[in-house]
Amino acid sequence: MKQQLIEEIGKIKQQLLNISDSLYENPELGDQEYQSMQKLVAFLKEHQFEIETNIVGRATAFKAEFNSGKPGPKIAYLAEYDALPGVGHGCGHNLIGTMSTGAAVALSKLLHVVGGSVIVLGTPAEETNGAKVPMSEQGIFDDIDVAMIVHPGGTSHESGESLAMDAIQFSYFGKPSHAAASPEQGINALDSVIQLFNGINALRQHVTSDVRIHGIISEGGQAANVVPDKATAQFYVRAKSRDYLNEVVEKVKHIAEGAASMTGALLEITNYELSYDNMITNQVLSDVYTKNLKETSNQAVLPPKATYGSIDMGNVSQVVPAIHPYIGMNEATLVPHTKEFADTTITEEGHQALHDGALSLAKTGYDVLTDSKLFKAIQDEFKKTK
Ligand SMILES: [Zn+2]
Ligand SMILES: [Zn+2]
Repeated sequence: MKQQLIEEIGKIKQQLLNISDSLYENPELGDQEYQSMQKLVAFLKEHQFEIETNIVGRATAFKAEFNSGKPGPKIAYLAEYDALPGVGHGCGHNLIGTMSTGAAVALSKLLHVVGGSVIVLGTPAEETNGAKVPMSEQGIFDDIDVAMIVHPGGTSHESGESLAMDAIQFSYFGKPSHAAASPEQGINALDSVIQLFNGINALRQHVTSDVRIHGIISEGGQAANVVPDKATAQFYVRAKSRDYLNEVVEKVKHIAEGAASMTGALLEITNYELSYDNMITNQVLSDVYTKNLKETSNQAVLPPKATYGSIDMGNVSQVVPAIHPYIGMNEATLVPHTKEFADTTITEEGHQALHDGALSLAKTGYDVLTDSKLFKAIQDEFKKTK
């Protein structure tokens, strides 16, 4: 049966490459990926998937389902297709979208025999305001049994962890006045922001080493001779687990309040982007995928990356067994979020990664659909980690 998957991927390979290359040529930013979504949706429609667009209130999100009509697990492949300002597909999401779509189409051809259903979820704006967050919150994964996504990289890595993250904005409101003639009349909002940075820098000594806190001053006054009456800082705060992150964020908020007291400015705290949870890899599912990749690709599969980033797949992994491995483009020195990374996605190595990733995903889906012992082991592990 797996031989048939190899043939099915072979049949659609050229179309997948064309779609990925055209996404590279026409990169679209998060929540504006209309053309990219259309291309993937059109391809899935061609292969008899039922399409629903504009889900969870996101115009460029979609759900495409192929249901065999026979009982069996529901396998979800997640497709990303957002690009970055300046560097286009510098994170290679053109490959992610096509690998997941290709895997789903190939697997769908075997469903009349093995039963179950396969779904592609189009998940916009991973780089900014990941749609996987509202999808996880609004029950999209309730009837799904496993969720998979593969990210391109320089080298192949097993699925691992990622940091939980909150994006927090601190706005201080003071009182303007002439900075030289009547400084005593002013309340300096910028001073609060500076104290906020100082306080956070003092906190760094007393958090675990996985914590990352990094921020900018996005608003710091208009002119040096006017006491700044409004100042704003934006921070990302990250930690290995959601629970510990919540503790750290509490401390950061106390610092922010202290900084307001020091000047008398008023403080407003908001989340300027969605929060991401830490990634929990389902090890049983991950091992099956790794076995399939090793069988498919001649590149080494390295242990999980020691990563300090955050991904919206983390939120998905909290509600359904999930994996987020990396597929190598045979270029160990490749740096993500660069033009070079984007350019590599359209080379022979990038195309090979697309093929190998799609096939390994399809094979893994097939294993989950046909091996009930494996299916149970995946669910048991998930229940245990919850
Ligand atoms: Zn990225
Ligand atoms: Zn990415």
